[in-house]
Order: sequence, then C-alpha cells, then structure tokens
Amino acid sequence: MTALDTVVDFPHYIDGEFREAHAGGWIDSVNPATGRTWARIPAGDAADVDAAVSAANRAARAWRNRTAADRAGVLRRLAVVVRDHAEELWRVESTDNGRAVAETRPAVLGAAMQIEFHAGLAETITGQTVSLAPSALTYSALEPYGVVGVIIPWNAPLAMFLAKVSAALAAGNGVVVKPPERASVSILTVARLLEDAGIPPGLVNIVCGEGAAAGEALVDHPDVAKVGFTGSTATGRRITARSTGNMKALSLELGGKSPNIVFADADLDAAAVGVAAGIFTGSAGQACIAGSRILVQDSIFDDLLERVRDIAGQIVLGDPLDSSTGMGPLAFDQQYAKVCDYLDLGVAEGARRVFGGRTAPELFQADNPLRNGYFVEPTLFATEDNGLRICQEEIFGPVAVAVPFSSDDQAVELANGTAYGLAAGVWSRDLGRVHRMAGALRAGTVWVNTYRRLHWALPFGGHKQSGNGVSNGPDALHEWLEHKSVWIEHGV
Ligand code: NAD
Repeated sequence: MTALDTVVDFPHYIDGEFREAHAGGWIDSVNPATGRTWARIPAGDAADVDAAVSAANRAARAWRNRTAADRAGVLRRLAVVVRDHAEELWRVESTDNGRAVAETRPAVLGAAMQIEFHAGLAETITGQTVSLAPSALTYSALEPYGVVGVIIPWNAPLAMFLAKVSAALAAGNGVVVKPPERASVSILTVARLLEDAGIPPGLVNIVCGEGAAAGEALVDHPDVAKVGFTGSTATGRRITARSTGNMKALSLELGGKSPNIVFADADLDAAAVGVAAGIFTGSAGQACIAGSRILVQDSIFDDLLERVRDIAGQIVLGDPLDSSTGMGPLAFDQQYAKVCDYLDLGVAEGARRVFGGRTAPELFQADNPLRNGYFVEPTLFATEDNGLRICQEEIFGPVAVAVPFSSDDQAVELANGTAYGLAAGVWSRDLGRVHRMAGALRAGTVWVNTYRRLHWALPFGGHKQSGNGVSNGPDALHEWLEHKSVWIEHGV
C-alpha cells in the first residue's frame, strides 16, 4: 500500500505492457472515505482500445489452439496468485471504491474459487452429434468468439473482472476490459499478476477511460465479436442502440429495484436481519441485487420496521479498511450527490422517513477525516404509493422504502410493479406460499428466508430491464461461446 499523501499512477495494461494513454491524459481516483485523490488512471480512447484489440487478436489465435487442459492449468495458476496477493487486492479495492473489507475480503477469496470453477468448465465444452442420414456426419460445436470486450461497473470491479475474464479465457477467447473510471485500480493491480500466472502477453488487456471514450470505442470496434456489459440499465440501452449498426453480440447485466417481501408468518428476527443486510451492509446499498423495496404484510408492518431500525442503528459506519466497519462510504462524489438528492426527493414526494437521512458532516466530528468522505447512514422511508420515484428508480445507496401489503396477490403485484427484474426475497414459513411466490415473481433470482446469496455454480441474470445474459452456473462459459453446426456428407 502507498503512503497516504502519495498519488500513484496506474497505467493501462496492453499487450503485456503497462502503458500511459496514447493521448496522455489521466483521471483522478479518489478515496471515497476521505475525499482525497490517491491514484491516477489513464484517460484512454479509441487509439488505446485499437492497440488492445490488435494485441488480443494476435494472442487469441494461439490461445484457442491450446488444449482445454492447458487453458485450465493457466487459470488454476491464476487462482493461486490471486490467493497469494489477496490481502493487497482487497485493501486496494476498499481504498478505491469504499467497500468495507468485511465484504472485499470474501469477494477476492470467492473470486479465486470461481476462477477454479471456470478452469474445470474449460474441459467440459461439448457439442452434439445429431444422426440425420447414414451418408453424413452432422454435429454441433461451441467455439470461442475470438476477441471479446468486457465493460465493468465500480461497485465490485475486481470480483467481476476475475469472474468475467476467467470465463472468457476458459472458453478460448482473448479479452479487452474497460474497467470503471471511478474504480479501476484493483483491476490494474491484478494485471501485474497475470504474467506470473502464465497468461500470455496480449491475451488480457485493460484499457481505462470514460465510458463515452474508451467504452464506446470498444462497443464500436469491428474486431470485437461480443461485449459483455455490466452496469446501469440506461447505459445498457445506449450500448444496445449503438450496436444496431454492427449487430454486435451483447450480454447485459443491468440494474435492479429488488423487493424483499416479509409475510406475517415469517421468523421476524431473521427477516429483519436479512432485510437490513440486503440493503445497508451489502455495499452500502450499491449492489445491483440490493433489496431496496421492503414489502411488509400490514399486520406486522410497524413491528418489522422497528426491528430493522434496531439492527440499522447498530451498523458501524467508518473506514472501509477497518475490519469492524459494517458500512463504508458511497463510492464517489456524484453517487453521493445522487443519493443525497433521493433523500430530499423521498421527503418531497410525501414518503414518511422512518429513520436515517444523515450524511458525513452530521455523522463525524470536525477533526475526523471521514467527515470529508461520502457517507450516508442507513435510511428507511415508508409509503403506500408504489408509484413514487423512490419506489421505482434505482437509488444505489443505503436507502430503502417500505410498502405495506395485505394479500399474496397484492405482494406479487407490488413486487413485479417496476421495470426491473433482477432479484427478490421472500420471508415466510408457509411452504406452499413460498413455492407460489417463487413461481410468480419476475426476477432472475428468488431467495427464500435468506437474501443476497450468490454462488458461481448457480446461474445469475436479470429479467425484464435488468438484462439478458446469464453468468455463473454450469453454463457460465456459454456467454463466451458461439454455436456452429457441421454437416459432412461422406456417402454410404
Ligand atoms: P454505468 O452504466 O454508468 O457504467 C458501467 C460501465 O459502463 C463503466 O465502465 C462505464 O465507463 C461504462 N460506460 C458508460 N457509458 C458507456 C457507453 N456509452 N458505452 C460504453 N460503456 C459505457 O454503471 P455504474 O454506475 O458504473 O454501475 C452501477 C450500475 O451497475 C447499477 O445500475 C447496478 O445495478 C449495475 N450493476 C449490475 C450488475 C448485474 O449483475 N446485473 C452488477 C453490478 C452492477
């Protein structure tokens, strides 16, 4: 780690070398706990992306011709070097995007296990033989695309980078990654380890920069066969519109406004813990799967909200690098401003503020450097109007809204009543009810009597405007493979 006052430059990683941006510009990376610039990343553009794509093209041709066992071996070595440097990696990520080490530590260790899972999948890529005629051999095969692009958001960049890149490599592709301009440093730190793992120069390239410069150049590049995008629904829409000209293959993992539904027959202690963990301690609400809408059966509405208030009151806000911190700051100044605007909007829309609403200057003493950080305390609104903007729009901060319901049908209607469909939680002891709810909820993941649990072996993706791709699970490599059918007429 660097001394507090030092600003460190982290260049792009292109063709196995660390390079400054072609045009020479830099973007400041700010530690959100203190508001101080601690690093700089290159302001890349189309010229940098082009250099990275050329390198990836060259390296990918050799990589796809290596055996699956060979590719798997390289990935297993990558998992080892990630584990060997895990502490450095989680500390950098927590410094750069403010996520508490209580979260970044398991995220890095989990990512190492996911790399190993993808290594195992490399040797399971199969096609099918289809018997159509005695005179022919007809079969299907799965092939790598060639060069693929990966665009990553700032809320969990390192784990996402390792998951996406290891899947794309296991499938036999070369990769160009565009990390988030607000939190690229953990990805650029892991870049230093790629050669040690035996990843050939040029196979994985990292080009930093703003979305409108480096991101769009990657989407536009004719030699990038597919882009896997994770980020907001608004940007996903722009990328989709931009790709109509070149018909680029896209998979999209987008935003959410997920309901966490508590029935009167639930274990209310467990539900209150799950509700608070789903929105507050989970990345300070900066998670696509945040349970930001708390739907509560009317007979237990006040009781449940009191229990959530008690738990929220015990969450320690503080330095993300301190293991006792439960919630760090928001990741950067504009996100802080956006969440603060929603705090005002909730009141202006007529919702009742049940608790919370304070920000850094009200939370920390004048002599505490965290007072300049982007902290918002756990906040809960309540309303009966699911049409309010705070009920419909992704806030992406530690701000939830509680809405009462009376029947199962009403719970489903409210839960499904947004444009999103990423995740949902159900708290109930009634087995029939939880099965009916799991079927009726339009969400890519439904948790019952738990929340915010993900595993690399279980598919993850969004319904509706939360996206279209599926990552994780036994078919995790399919996102990075193309189908081919072969018909060999050999006569009888
Ligand atoms: P964002 O859409 O602003 O940016 C995401 C990435 O896209 C960044 O790297 C950015 O530079 C790039 N980008 C921006 N404009 C672009 C353009 N025109 N062309 C190409 N690239 C462009 O999202 P964000 O604010 O960084 O991340 C938060 C969002 O990500 C939330 O909506 C959250 O729900 C979502 N998210 C979804 C998942 C999921 O798996 N579904 C996971 C994490 C985050």
